[in-house]
Amino acid sequence: MTMIAENLHQVRTRIAAAARSAGRPEGAVRLLAVSKTFDAPAVRAAFEAGLTAFGENYVQEGVAKIEALADLRDRLEWHCIGPLQSNKTRVVAEQFDWVHGIDRLKIAQRLSEQRPAGLPPLQVCLQVNVDGGANKSGVGVDEAPDLARAVAALPRLALRGIMAIPEPASDFDAQRELFLRATAVFERIRADGIALDTLSMGMSADLEAAVAAGSTMVRVGTALFGGRPPKEPVAARA
Ligand SMILES: *Cc1c(COP(=O)(O)O)cnc(C)c1O
Repeated sequence: MTMIAENLHQVRTRIAAAARSAGRPEGAVRLLAVSKTFDAPAVRAAFEAGLTAFGENYVQEGVAKIEALADLRDRLEWHCIGPLQSNKTRVVAEQFDWVHGIDRLKIAQRLSEQRPAGLPPLQVCLQVNVDGGANKSGVGVDEAPDLARAVAALPRLALRGIMAIPEPASDFDAQRELFLRATAVFERIRADGIALDTLSMGMSADLEAAVAAGSTMVRVGTALFGGRPPKEPVAARA
């Protein structure tokens, strides 16, 4: 087995075990492979091992890989999971399938306006700041329902759910409690009549706690691809 195939097997085993101990069906959690800093051949190898959904943080780097893997475009789903600046919305609207980091109406409006007519609606999640970190991206828990209503009304977006990146907590229960704050926002928006189906939360280090809290999509990088070089993005290495 290749390294990516072995890692994938381990990650799937972890997700299945976490779902089982939460009494959730095994298929309830999708795996998004976070390929940031890894090059296009690494993504191709991951595809060959069975992965089809990839997450990128840096727009330029992601677009370079989408182009390098154009032959697989119909079979891959590309997710933009990093913070998004207004000047990058057009290329994201044109190239990606999903955006997880919506935290302002202005960004959502631009994405909706810029989504090409020939493509399906852009699938989006609102990023919610569940632990109140002042410098963090994400809409506040109390503001999320109003933002959800406004985003759900935009014609070229499909609002799918909530994304959260809580800080690391001291233990499993504390970590699950932080994820449960996102789950509560998700349920509150659903109670308003907006049909969300995606709770994007959990990464390599905390996916078990996220699955215990109801995650439907874990975003996993390191546990699949190995360690990343510290800090700086490797821009457009593809
Ligand atoms: C890098 C990143 C991940 C994956 O993190 P790992 O710890 O490598 O699994 C998930 N989500 C976002 C938003 C990220 O930036």
